[in-house]
Amino acid sequence: MTPFYETIRSLDGSRIKTDPQNATTGQVKALMGSISSGDIPTPGDIAILTSPAAAEVLAPMAQLAQAITARRFGKTIQMYAPLYISNHCSNSCVYCGFNVHNKINRRTSGREEILSEARLLRNKHISQLLLVSGECPSQVGVEMLEGIAGDLKGMFPSLSIEIYPLDTPDYQRLYGAGIDGLAIYQETYDQNIYSTVHPAGPKRDYQYRLGAPERGAAAGFRQIGIGSLLGLNDWRVESYYLAHHAAYLMKHHWKSQVSISFPRLRPAAGGYRPEFPVSDRELVQMICAFRLIFPDAGLVLSTREPAELRDHLIGLGITRMSAGSKTSPGGYLDKLDNNLDQQEAAADGQFNVFDDRPVEAVAASIRQKGYDTVWKDWDKGFER
Ligand code: SF4
Repeated sequence: MTPFYETIRSLDGSRIKTDPQNATTGQVKALMGSISSGDIPTPGDIAILTSPAAAEVLAPMAQLAQAITARRFGKTIQMYAPLYISNHCSNSCVYCGFNVHNKINRRTSGREEILSEARLLRNKHISQLLLVSGECPSQVGVEMLEGIAGDLKGMFPSLSIEIYPLDTPDYQRLYGAGIDGLAIYQETYDQNIYSTVHPAGPKRDYQYRLGAPERGAAAGFRQIGIGSLLGLNDWRVESYYLAHHAAYLMKHHWKSQVSISFPRLRPAAGGYRPEFPVSDRELVQMICAFRLIFPDAGLVLSTREPAELRDHLIGLGITRMSAGSKTSPGGYLDKLDNNLDQQEAAADGQFNVFDDRPVEAVAASIRQKGYDTVWKDWDKGFER
C-alpha cells in the first residue's frame, strides 16, 4: 500500500484550482441528480460541489444533504467534549494560542485534576471524551496518557486523543490502554503554506503528520478524525485534498470510521489573522458537499462556531457536536474549590470559544429542532 503522500503527489495541482471555477450549474444539478438516484460520487466530484456554480443552488444541495443525513444517521446528533491536559507546546504554529513563543500561562494538569474534570463532564452526560494537548512529550508522554486512559476508561465508553503525531507502536500502546479514537488535522494540505505557518518545531515535518491517520488506523483505532484548519488556504483547494484523504482512508483502512471536522480559525493569543477567511455560507456549502460525497462519514462541528450557526447546521450534515467546551487545562474546574494558585488558575486557552452555552442548553436546542442527542453509541464490549 502506498502512503497517502504519494496520492497527493499524483493529483494534478493545476486542475485543483481551475476545476471548481469551470464547473457549471448544469454539472452541479446533474451530479446531484445522480447522487439522488443512488450513484456513488468520486472524491474528485467535490470540485463540482464546492464550486461557485454550486453556491447558486445551495438550497437544493442543503435539502439533499439533509435527506441523506436523516437516511443514514436518523435524526440524531452525537455529543462530545474536549478535555485539555496541557497547553505546553514546542511548536510555533502561527495561528495557535499555544505557540511556544506566545507569553501565556502554561500548565499541565495532574492525574487527579483530570479525573475531577472528567467526573464533572460525566455528570453532564458526556460519554465521548476527547483528550487534547499541545506537542510536548516531556509534559504529556505516552506513559502519562496510558495512565489517564486507565483512570477514565471505566467512566467513558469512548476516549479519543487530539495530540501530536506518534509512531504506530505508540498508538498501539494507547489503543491497548483504552483509547479508541484519534483526531489529527493536517491543518493545510498545501505543502508551501504548511511550511510558512509552521516555521519551527517538530510539526514542520509535513509528511510525518500526514501519515499519522494511517499509522493510527494500522494501530487499530476505531475512529479516525481528519480536517483542514479553515482560513489557512483556499477552502475549495483544501476540500479537494481532504476529500481524497477521506476516500483513501476509507478504502485502505475500512475497519476504522472516518470523520471529518470543519474547524474555522478563531482569534487566539498571537493575534493571527487568516489569509483566506471562510464565510458562513461557504462553510455551509463545504459541509453539504462532504455529506453528498461521503454519505456515511461522521461530520463534526466544534464550539468554534457561533450558537446560531451551529443550531442552523443541525441536520444539514453535521452528526457530532461538542458542547460546553473549555480550551485550557483545568478549565472546567472551579479554581477556588481546587486549591489552584493564581498562576495555575489563569492557564490560557487555545482559542476563543464562540458557542459558550452549557451542555444542557446545546442539548435543548438539538431537541427543539426535533433531533435526539446521542451520548453513547459504542461500548468496548462490542469488540468481543
Ligand atoms: S496547533 Fe498544536 S502543535 Fe501547533 S502550537 Fe498549537 S498546540 Fe502546538
